Amino acid sequence: MAYKFIDNYREKGARKKLVKELAEKKGITDTNVLAAMAKVKRHYFFDETFWAQAYLDKAFPIGDGQTISTPYTVAYQSQLLHIKKGDKILEIGTGCGYQTCILIEMGAQVYTIERQEALFNRTKKVLPYIGYNAHFFLGDGSKGIAEHAPYDKIIVTAGAPLVPEILVKQLKIGGILVIPVGDTKQQKMVTVLRVSENDFEKFVLDAFKFVPLLGEQAW
Ligand code: SAH
Repeated sequence: MAYKFIDNYREKGARKKLVKELAEKKGITDTNVLAAMAKVKRHYFFDETFWAQAYLDKAFPIGDGQTISTPYTVAYQSQLLHIKKGDKILEIGTGCGYQTCILIEMGAQVYTIERQEALFNRTKKVLPYIGYNAHFFLGDGSKGIAEHAPYDKIIVTAGAPLVPEILVKQLKIGGILVIPVGDTKQQKMVTVLRVSENDFEKFVLDAFKFVPLLGEQAW
């Protein structure tokens, strides 16, 4: 494996083209999301052999049976979070950390949790090295992280069988949870807005395919 952190003209150009495609053909309208996608170097999460794949709108294996979500999926989830500078965000499913970098680039303070130790160890090292600082946790994120709650936003980057009750309770009033919900083959993106202490509004959106969210409150 040869991970290199060099941003050549070829990757710069491919990244620009991808952002244009997300804006003009795929309906991503949040300019803050597009600006972050223009900045974060997705090829840094790929072995150099596969750099030609890094700016295609495709998912890709990142080892340990997991995948880096498609750029469109990352943009779509990020857009639904309506991120404001300083937002405290819980991300469940750190993976390679690309989505984490997008959130940080948008000015969020990110708490991120991964259940696979090898991924956790790698990402915890790589992100600060390429200039992105987050709070990294190893464990079952299906229960959230109660010690650091409440959060302005919670994003789940793996497919859940249902919306874990314990997660919506870790939202601030006015907070938003974005989570793909369905069976293991397909999920619908769901957003939950915490309107008040006991009132929640749920919206069911487009279909996606994520790797399963494993754990106590999941599969
Ligand atoms: N946002 C990531 C997507 C990774 S795929 C990226 O851009 O790379 C989803 C990740 O969720 C996988 O790494 C998987 O190991 C992790 N995951 C699944 N169930 C989990 C759980 N209960 N807690 C924490 N992480 C979990």
